[in-house]
Amino acid sequence: MEYPVYETFHSWQGEGEHLGKSAFFVRLFGCPVHCPWCDSAGTWHPDYVPETIEKRTAASLAEEALEVNPEFVVVTGGEPCIHDLSALTRALGEKGLRCHLETSGAFAIRGDFDWIVLSPKWQALPKPEGLRQANEIKLIVEDETSIERWLEALGESIGGKTVWLNPEWSKRSDSRVLKSITEFVKARGAPFRAGLQAHKFYQADLLDAKSLPASPLGGNPSLGY
Ligand code: SF4
Repeated sequence: MEYPVYETFHSWQGEGEHLGKSAFFVRLFGCPVHCPWCDSAGTWHPDYVPETIEKRTAASLAEEALEVNPEFVVVTGGEPCIHDLSALTRALGEKGLRCHLETSGAFAIRGDFDWIVLSPKWQALPKPEGLRQANEIKLIVEDETSIERWLEALGESIGGKTVWLNPEWSKRSDSRVLKSITEFVKARGAPFRAGLQAHKFYQADLLDAKSLPASPLGGNPSLGY
């Protein structure tokens, strides 16, 4: 089994329950979801995709991850669940590596993960079983109405899991977005928590020479999107 790999790098987890922990990232190529503010457009958008994409075996990815001795490996994308991840999680498990997944939840999760972060997207809503399998949920807050709209769409399916409210990165200084998160957390408390993408403030990923610069779609008026 070979996987199309956009990039691999060693950094730390910048979001959620495992914030700040050493992590090796495997970013797989391909995503049919197409969010207008995607921060990984190099994995799918025609204006950003690289000329060539390397195909890697699960074993070679696991060996590379083991070399940096991370606390866990994060399989991300793109949308990693368009691929059958069973061989990859098996290879990582054989090396004694814990395996985390970051997904939109719109596709069946194939593979054995120690931790699943589900971040739903309007363009392809999550499957109920994905929401059940998730260990934590990350909602992207684009405007003052985002949180209520997400709760209406997801309803009870969020269960008692921690629900992170993260400002969409191009809105990170938008006081209306930040205020809506703050007021919601103050009003509702658990399981809602204010979040952010801390690794971006640190530019932590870019310290690994193998990491590619982010290619955000949102907030790029010069390109018209
Ligand atoms: S944000 Fe995630 S789900 Fe949305 S287009 Fe980008 S990679 Fe795909």
